[in-house]
Amino acid sequence: MPDLLELLDQRPVVCAEGYLFECERRGYLQAGAFVPEVVLDHPEVVEELHREFVHAGSDVVEAFTYYGHREKLRVIGKEDILEPLNRQALAIAAQVARDTGALLAGNVCNTNVYEPGAAAGRTVRSAFEEQVGWAAEAGVDFVIAETFSWAGEALLALEAIREAGLPAADACRQAEQAGASVVGLNCIRGPLTMLPLLGPVRAAVSCPVAALPVPYRTTAAEPSMQALSDPARGGAQAFPTGLDPFTCTRQELGEFATAALELGVRYLGVCCGAAPHHVRAVAEAAGKTPPASRYSPDMSKHSFLGSAPGITKSYREYASNL
Ligand SMILES: [Zn+2]
Repeated sequence: MPDLLELLDQRPVVCAEGYLFECERRGYLQAGAFVPEVVLDHPEVVEELHREFVHAGSDVVEAFTYYGHREKLRVIGKEDILEPLNRQALAIAAQVARDTGALLAGNVCNTNVYEPGAAAGRTVRSAFEEQVGWAAEAGVDFVIAETFSWAGEALLALEAIREAGLPAADACRQAEQAGASVVGLNCIRGPLTMLPLLGPVRAAVSCPVAALPVPYRTTAAEPSMQALSDPARGGAQAFPTGLDPFTCTRQELGEFATAALELGVRYLGVCCGAAPHHVRAVAEAAGKTPPASRYSPDMSKHSFLGSAPGITKSYREYASNL
C-alpha cells in the first residue's frame, strides 16, 4: 500500500468518519459528553463499523479517538481510562487496516478548552502530544487533526504531529505553510454550504485539499448542522439528536463528491452522520468500486418499478398510479 501522499498522487482518497454519531445512534455512546467509551465497553461495535466503512469504500481506517482526549475524560471523571482507551482504539483500527489493506490514521480533534491568546495553550498542546505519541507507537500512517474552529488550535495540533515525525491531514494556507500534508474542511457544514468554500481553499494552497461534510441538508440561512431548526418540532434546534429529518440522500453525497472533484479536491469523505451508503456513493463518484458496490442498486429488476424482462407489466402500471 502506498502512503497517503503517493496514493493522493495516483487517485482520490476516501475517508469515512462520523464514528461518534453512528455509535450514539446505535445505542453505544451517550450524547452530551460524547466520549468514545464504546472503544473499551464494546470494541466489537467499533471494529464492525470500521469494517463496514472500508467495505463501503473508505481507504482509511481512522482510530476512534475523537473526543478521547484528556479534557473530555476529565469532564466525565475518568482520566484513568485515557491511555487504555487510546491504545485500544488504535489497536482495533490497526487490526482492521492490516486485514483490509487500508491506511491507518490516528486522530486528534478540538479540545474544547482552547481560547485564542489564552494560557490554555500548554494544556492543549500536551493533550495533543500524548495522543499523537500513542498513535505514533501504534504505527499509524498519518494523523488526522480535525474539527478546529480556530487556526491557532489547529497549528498546535500540527506542531505535535510534526514533532512525532508524522504527516498531518485536515487543518488551509497557514497549516500548509506550517507543514501539513493535506488541508481542508470537515464537519459542521453539509454538502450545499461546504461546496462554495472549497474553490477558495483550493486556490489558497498547493497541497492536496480535503472535504468531509456532514450528510445533512444545511442551507444558506442555516449553514451548519448546529444551526438547523426543525419546523415540524416548533423550530427546535435539531443538533445533535434530532437531525434525522435533515439527512442527505446518498445521491446528494455522490453529487457533492463529483462537484468537489471537479474543483480539484482529492481527499473526500463524510463526517458526523455518515452511514455506509453515503460512503459508497462518495467512493463510486471518485471512480472506486468497493466491495459494497456489488450491492449497489439495480432498479431494473424491481417488481413494481423495473423494466427488465420478466417484470409484470400490470405491476408497473399499478406502481405508476401510487
Ligand atoms: Zn463531524
